[in-house]
Amino acid sequence: MRNSSPFLALSLLSAFIYTTSCAQHDDKKTSVSSETWEPQPRIITPGNNPGNAPSDALVLFDGANLDQWVSVIDGSAPKWTIKDGVFTVAPGTKDIVTKKEFNDFQLHVEWRSPAEVKADKTGQDRGNSGIFLHGQYEVQVLDSYDNKTYVNGQAGAIYKQHIPLVNASKKPGEWQVYEIIFTAPHFNKEGRVIVPAYVTVIHNGALAINHAAVWGSTENVGFPIYKTYEKGPIRLQDHQSLVSYRNIWIRDL
Ligand code: MG
Repeated sequence: MRNSSPFLALSLLSAFIYTTSCAQHDDKKTSVSSETWEPQPRIITPGNNPGNAPSDALVLFDGANLDQWVSVIDGSAPKWTIKDGVFTVAPGTKDIVTKKEFNDFQLHVEWRSPAEVKADKTGQDRGNSGIFLHGQYEVQVLDSYDNKTYVNGQAGAIYKQHIPLVNASKKPGEWQVYEIIFTAPHFNKEGRVIVPAYVTVIHNGALAINHAAVWGSTENVGFPIYKTYEKGPIRLQDHQSLVSYRNIWIRDL
């Protein structure tokens, strides 16, 4: 009997803790006990409409200049043309790239393919440009309104990797919107990718790419490859089409 007293005491203590815990649980009710109060999301000022930059965004083009961008050829000022708050590819001057590099981000881009559709411009020759995330993963920009091409190369595609869920294209000459959410790939010490990049694309308000794993750099010829790196810029493609852009902003995540 003497030996059993420690076990008895332990049993009584367990019963007390259990009873007290149940009483507290009952007092606060189930809905309250599952509430989380910290950490509080950072307060930002939203734009007045979905296209306006929130207060914590970096504006990459506000209609005035391309100060946030350089030419990929030599790092000089871009030769793309700016007019009426819009900038347009200057064919033959090559891609432009942001001076700043990013990790994970949310990107807002408005773009427009040429209103005039020439009969000899079909498929990939019609309103082609592109938004290269980290400078190497292309979200295709293309006039995909009544314009057949390979589906993993149409507007909203992750070029030659992911077909968009919908074709939400507007008519040529109309402004279109991409909301892009990107998380960067992670590499181990040996340089092998252990977590791929993920991309979500909303095209004109419709989900086109839903958290898709990127297989590596988007290649026109050949297969995607990953090479270890840390951050990357946003690159816009000169594909010899007079594609225009306006209202571009980005938020680090
Ligand atoms: Mg392209």
